[in-house]
Amino acid sequence: MAEHVIIIGSGPAGWSAAIYAARAELKPLVFEGAITEENRLSGTLPLGQLALTTEVENYAGFPAGILKNYLETAIEHDRLQYMNCVEGHHAVTGPELMELMRQQASNFGTRIVTDDVVNVDLQQRPFVVKTLEGNTHHAHALIIATGAKANYLGLPSEEAFKNRGVSACAVCDGALPRFRNKPLVVVGGGDSAVEEATYLTKYASMVHMVHRRDKLRASMIMQERALKNPKIKMEWNSTLEEVIGDDKQGVSGVRLGSTNGSSVREIPATGVFLAIGHTPNTSFLKAQVALTDKQYIKWTVPFRTNTSVEGVFAAGDVADDYYKQAITSAGTGCQAALDAERWLAAKGI
Ligand code: NAP
Repeated sequence: MAEHVIIIGSGPAGWSAAIYAARAELKPLVFEGAITEENRLSGTLPLGQLALTTEVENYAGFPAGILKNYLETAIEHDRLQYMNCVEGHHAVTGPELMELMRQQASNFGTRIVTDDVVNVDLQQRPFVVKTLEGNTHHAHALIIATGAKANYLGLPSEEAFKNRGVSACAVCDGALPRFRNKPLVVVGGGDSAVEEATYLTKYASMVHMVHRRDKLRASMIMQERALKNPKIKMEWNSTLEEVIGDDKQGVSGVRLGSTNGSSVREIPATGVFLAIGHTPNTSFLKAQVALTDKQYIKWTVPFRTNTSVEGVFAAGDVADDYYKQAITSAGTGCQAALDAERWLAAKGI
C-alpha cells in the first residue's frame, strides 16, 4: 500500500507539514533521520539545525518565561531526556521547540520513523523511497524538508582535527573539557557565528571571532551582543589558513591570513568552531528534482511549494537560501502540506 504522503526531514518545516497533513487525514509518515555518528558530525541528526541551537528568541508565540511545567505536561515523558530542559526564566530553546513540534505532529497521528532516506525514485509512481536500514516505502506525494548542514572550509588540517577540537556546533561540543577556560576560535561573521561565540564565552577564557571582512553580517542585535562582550575579540579581515595541533593533544592553535595585506599570525586555541553558512541536504535526490545554482530545490510555481516533479513539494531551508528562519520554514511546511493535500485531491487519491 502506498502512503498518501511521505515527509522527509524533521525540522520546523517537516513537523509543520506533518501537523497539517495529519489533520487533513493524510496519515503522514515522517522520516526524521537516523541517529548515527556520521549524522552527528555533519549536523544532520533528527530535529534539524534548531536542535543544535540555544534559546530561540524570535519564534513568534514564545516570549521568555518559566516553561518547565508546560514542557513537562506537553511532551511525553520518554522524550524529555532529549531536550536538556533549561531551568528558570528563558526563551524556548531550539531542542525544546523541536520536541514540542514533534509531539504536536505525533498527537494528530503522524507516524515517525527514525531512519535516513538515502534514495528516492521519482520516475516511478507511486514514488519509491529507500532508507539507510534497507526498507522500501511508496508514496503518492512527497514533501522534502531535509534542511541544510553547516559548511566547512575544506582545509586538510580542519578535516584532520574534526572531533579533536574542530567542530561546527558549539552547543553540541562547547562544554567538553578541552574547551574549558581556554582560548577558542569561531570563524564567520553571521548570526550563527555570533551565537556560537556568545555561547562559547560561558566556557572559554577568550573567543576570537575570525571574520574575512571588517563588518559583521549578523543582525544588529546580535552584532551588538558580540561587540559588547568582553570575552569576544574580533579578528577582522582575517582568514583561517591552517588549524595547528598534533595527534596527541588535538588542536593547539590557528594560523590566520589577512585579507588586507597584514602579516600572517598564529593564535593559541584549543578549539575551532566553523560558522560559515550552510549547504542544503539535496544530494540524496541525485538530480531528479531541479535545483538552483547553489543546490537548493527550485520552487517552480510562484508562492507555492511545487517542485519540477509533479507531486513532490519542498519546504524549509532545503528550498530557501534567503530567509532561512525557523518561522519561515514552519510556514512553508504548512504550505507544502496544503499543496500536497490539494494535489492529491485533484488526482482523486
Ligand atoms: P550567513 O548569514 O550566510 O553567514 C555566513 C558567514 O560566514 C558570513 O559572515 C560569511 O562572510 C562567512 N563565510 C562564508 N563563507 C566563508 C568562507 N569560505 N570563508 C570565510 N568566511 C565565510 O550564515 P549563518 O550565520 O549560518 O545564518 C544563516 C541564516 O540563519 C541567516 O538568515 C541568519 O539570520 C539565520 N540565523 C539566525 C539566528 C538568530 O536570529 N538567532 C541564529 C543563527 C542563524 P561574509 O559576511 O563576508 O559573507
